[in-house]
Amino acid sequence: MQLNWDDKFVRDLPGDPETRNATRQVFGAAWSAVTPTPVAAPRVLAWSPEVARMVGLRDHDITDPWFAQAFGGNLVLDGMRPYAACYGGHQFGHWAGQLGDGRAITLGEVVEAGQRYELQLKGAGPTPYSRRADGRAVLRSSIREFLCSEAMHHLGVPTTRALSLVTTGDKVVRDMFYDGNAAAEPGAIVCRVAPSFLRFGSFQIHAARQDEDTLRQLMAYTLETHFPALGPLSKESVLAFLEWVARATAVMVAHWMRVGFVHGVMNTDNMSILGLTIDYGPYGWIDAFDTDWTPNTTDEAQGRYRFGYQPAIAEWNLTRFAESLYPLVGDVDALGKALAGFDDAWTEASREMIAGKLGLSEYDPAIDGPLWDDLGENLERVETDMTLFFRALADWSTSADHLPTASAEELLAPVRHALYAPDACSPADVESWGHWFRRYARRLEADGRTADARAAAMNAVNPKYVLRNYLAQEAIELAEKGDAARITELLDVLRTPYDEQPSREHFAAKRPEWARDKPGCSALSCSS
Ligand code: AMP
Ligand code: MG
Repeated sequence: MQLNWDDKFVRDLPGDPETRNATRQVFGAAWSAVTPTPVAAPRVLAWSPEVARMVGLRDHDITDPWFAQAFGGNLVLDGMRPYAACYGGHQFGHWAGQLGDGRAITLGEVVEAGQRYELQLKGAGPTPYSRRADGRAVLRSSIREFLCSEAMHHLGVPTTRALSLVTTGDKVVRDMFYDGNAAAEPGAIVCRVAPSFLRFGSFQIHAARQDEDTLRQLMAYTLETHFPALGPLSKESVLAFLEWVARATAVMVAHWMRVGFVHGVMNTDNMSILGLTIDYGPYGWIDAFDTDWTPNTTDEAQGRYRFGYQPAIAEWNLTRFAESLYPLVGDVDALGKALAGFDDAWTEASREMIAGKLGLSEYDPAIDGPLWDDLGENLERVETDMTLFFRALADWSTSADHLPTASAEELLAPVRHALYAPDACSPADVESWGHWFRRYARRLEADGRTADARAAAMNAVNPKYVLRNYLAQEAIELAEKGDAARITELLDVLRTPYDEQPSREHFAAKRPEWARDKPGCSALSCSS
């Protein structure tokens, strides 16, 4: 196995002088050296060939026994300099102090084809940041992170990637619903990959401690390593950086809204400075369109991180991030101006998202805003599957001649299969749909695209296949019984999520009734 290891992060940034692996507060440092804790029997359960190639591995490297040893945490290869990063964060709106990589250990960086990648194990054992937890991860959450990060990438959503999913042969005890029913579950380790895993909280921790020196070093490093075009550390480069992060975050969230992804824990320690979706925990996919839905049971009452609130939370998080950069800028107005990049980019990205989902060549704010909002109301009024609806909408059409005489029922018919209870639609609901479809038909006519061109454009942004909550859960239950084939099969299906895959039609099916309230399908906790 030949990887081009590098160690720029630990080389350039101050590290924790203490090398004992015990829980502590770490001051004046961006990282602590720590090696993964060995596991009983590491075995590769699944891997992503695209990510392997991206970091410079060949297929046969993965089947080499060394791979499972190294990526299961049993072997530190020449060139690796493992560490856990120090960061803090706002959790559910409150400053939580030091958090850090409690169960993630970066093995090192790899430079391949001019691009830098951090290779990070999640679940590789305790670190100085583990607090009272064990540093491990269970198989179910590891399968979810592995599959979802790859699915998101293939959907065109900015995300960290996943190289490998390794089972450890050890058990991990978790109380999934914090109800006193702890159970031993199989443990696993995902190797995730990104140019950097730096978070808003990586900067916040030093600002909160008034450690301007470390904050300054981290910022200088970030600019030099990941934003060379912005120039060296200065008031201007920090502002340009903040504006870039604000814009990238807006674009990322617009993609989430487009594909129906709910992150579930948008704490500032889970927000990437590269605008990547990061830290897949109790996330979920929208089955029935509902802007108030959250998969995270811990957040059920408050709904802070619910689907429709994600843009507002992203902006709140960015504001906390901007505050942490104040010592480097010393100018509140200028920070506010840079932050406005979020609004700008959100307006643009969300308009593009709406026009794309509706198949319009251009967004008309006067017409399409209300058209979109009213569509949302209809979708919520009768439980409707978001993914199926937009795929069906691509093929929906009616002729101008037919429109005046068409009944609401006829207009609704082509998308009726997306309804969860097609027969429970009241006459008033059908009328409301009919009214909406008439407006849509007139809008399409004004837009002037041919039906074929519109369908092709819509099917390129409205996926056919997403990682439906129940699909991940089925793969988990099979894997827990020893059959991992479904993981690879799902990875395959989700590689081309916008294509029709006739032999895999069943993976596009709406949520079955058994999954409606089933833990793992609609209700997820942070216990993972
Ligand atoms: P999350 O909200 O899941 O991203 O995690 C918040 C913090 O808790 C991070 O600092 C994690 O590293 C830490 N954490 C979560 N689970 C564990 C675990 N099993 N062992 C150690 N630290 C953990
Ligand atoms: Mg996290």
